[in-house]
Amino acid sequence: MTGFFDTSIEYLKGVGPQRAAMLNKELQIFTYGDLIQHYPFRYEDRTKFYTIKELNEDMPFVQIKGVLKGKELVGAGFKKRLVGYFADDSGEMELVWFQGINWINDKLKPGAAYVAFGKPARFGNFFSIAHPEVEPLTVSNENGGFLHPVYPLSEKLRTRKIDSKTLSRIMQQLLTLAENRIRETLPVSIQKANHLIPKKEALLNIHFPKSHELLAQARQRLKFEELFYVQLRLLKMKLIRQEKMRGQVFQDATLLTKFYHEHLPFPLTNAQKKVIKEIYADLKSGQQMNRLLQGDVGSGKTIVGFICMLVAVSSGAQCALMAPTEILAQQHYKGLQRYADKMSIPLALLTGSTKKAERKKIHEALQSGELKILIGTHALLEEEVQFRNLGLSIVDEQHRFGVAQRSKLWQKNESVYPHVLVMTATPIPRTLAMTLYGDLDISVIDELPAGRKPIKTIHKFDAHRLQVNQFLRDQVEAGRQVYIVYPLIEESEKLDLKHLMDGYESVSRAFPDYAVSILHGKMKPEAKDYEMKRFASGETKMMVATTVIEVGVDVPNASVMVIENAERFGLSQLHQLRGRVGRGAEQSYCILMTDVKLSADSKVRLQTMVKTNNGFDIAETDLKLRGPGDLMGTQQSGVLDLLIADLGKDGPLLQTAREEAIKLLKDDPELEKPEHSVVKTQIESRRPSAMNWSRIS
Ligand code: ADP
Ligand code: MG
Repeated sequence: MTGFFDTSIEYLKGVGPQRAAMLNKELQIFTYGDLIQHYPFRYEDRTKFYTIKELNEDMPFVQIKGVLKGKELVGAGFKKRLVGYFADDSGEMELVWFQGINWINDKLKPGAAYVAFGKPARFGNFFSIAHPEVEPLTVSNENGGFLHPVYPLSEKLRTRKIDSKTLSRIMQQLLTLAENRIRETLPVSIQKANHLIPKKEALLNIHFPKSHELLAQARQRLKFEELFYVQLRLLKMKLIRQEKMRGQVFQDATLLTKFYHEHLPFPLTNAQKKVIKEIYADLKSGQQMNRLLQGDVGSGKTIVGFICMLVAVSSGAQCALMAPTEILAQQHYKGLQRYADKMSIPLALLTGSTKKAERKKIHEALQSGELKILIGTHALLEEEVQFRNLGLSIVDEQHRFGVAQRSKLWQKNESVYPHVLVMTATPIPRTLAMTLYGDLDISVIDELPAGRKPIKTIHKFDAHRLQVNQFLRDQVEAGRQVYIVYPLIEESEKLDLKHLMDGYESVSRAFPDYAVSILHGKMKPEAKDYEMKRFASGETKMMVATTVIEVGVDVPNASVMVIENAERFGLSQLHQLRGRVGRGAEQSYCILMTDVKLSADSKVRLQTMVKTNNGFDIAETDLKLRGPGDLMGTQQSGVLDLLIADLGKDGPLLQTAREEAIKLLKDDPELEKPEHSVVKTQIESRRPSAMNWSRIS
């Protein structure tokens, strides 16, 4: 069914096939509906006039009413310019043009009154505006105009003479046509409770605000609506899942009890106990679990994962644990092997480098059901990997996996989907989590194991290298180990490797008496493993590495992390790297090395790192600095393509929108009540969007 808002923009006056094609291509605007939702990103304030006397150079744009006293062409060649002498009752100023001089010269009539608009600049005692917009003073503009919309456009559109003015003329036309067809999309009760203006008024005022106040209300209304529908959709998916997706019931806790009594290596933190309870409740509920487990680096997620596996295994099911890198998979394997052996639970490691014969053995043991726990990389997703009864899939460090990959793991048991636990050390700010994982249940480990000393973070300039080296030497002499991380800087792998090798050489030169390990992504798995082992056993004291060590690697004796060119890392990544130390009982340090020249953003990042160890605070700052798309990587940004709301800034509004959505679904899960028909229509009318995948995380 097509309606008015599905009409192609081609049919608007002033558009036509050619411009329509440009707008399709450059801005993905196809229909009236797309166009009306192409919101301005800022406004030129034409509501108010300034007098020349009031001007100062900090004003962004000003509008002035005056008379053109005279004009002249000054200079020659390159420097030729047109100067207009412009005056009002308070003083005089200049209007200057360097380009399109002839055309403007023709239009400007000395003695006539004009409205000029532009950015004032100061030259000695007087002000001037370069390339102002000028319009003759008329009855329609003499009392001040409106807030003029400025639309997001591409360079290409501008070269084809489609500028903000053109677009706003087209928009004006569309709004006239559309005005009486704009449907209300929020129930009256929700509008009232949240002081929201009607949809129609919001759309008219977002494009052509009648006042600052109405503009603010329009923005609020449209943001709310956008967030509300994102949340409603996610919550609806969750409801459907809860109703339709059966999960295996795991209530046999024999192995868990045995592990608690006989083999628990350390007392669990209260936070660990709390999340285990939450997960256990899911596992025995009969509904399929889809849970995100968030916990800062070092908070002890691995053992939580293992304990949940025990519940599944007790009840006769198999478990999979998928990690993003081979190193991390190996580390999980070794770590869990200790516990599994004590409990006599068969487990295996499957990665890209598992030998063929071993692979075959694993495949068979999986199908017979004899193998209970399989740990590995994305190799787990291969077709040949078939379980007899996969009951629990755990995905570690989830943000490194694509969505499609995760869903494959889900489908490894087609009769009953396995329970899914996604573990992440990237603390996702609440606002983002509510959107990215709004349909998942979330558990948080918000406490580090006792006895950990907070890591001390220090920022040093490259000029202090000798001092830093002396510090490293002291630490190594005291029995500690050190990581030195180099960023990936260049586009080319070769150059990056060269950087790392140069770093390795200078470290080796500065510490000729210590053995230094090196680790990077291009090494063969055996070589990596060899270096990791040498470092983990303490044979080497220093490890020079790229960010391959970012996830998972666990060497409790390593207590110093030096990050070279720290300004080149994102905040979350810095925090993640820092998490590699601070795992033992000793005081740990993170030293951020940079050049003295730093951008404003880099300074904020470094200051934040020095100031706090709290992953959630860091994630919030990161979100503000970078915006949500970047934060999560491009593969996930689709879900965050919001038209007007900003997850970095609209947290409280999102919270309210979510609460309203929850209230609505509680009251009327099928949206059957007449007063909710607007919601039902809106949900059904929307095109299927990128949102759908979040279901499978
Ligand atoms: P992450 O959450 O970053 O994956 P890990 O599971 O790797 O953290 O745990 C970090 C370290 O803390 C490991 O050496 C682990 O054995 C240890 N650990 C986990 N839980 C506790 C606890 N309750 N008490 C003491 N140490 C713990
Ligand atoms: Mg981990």
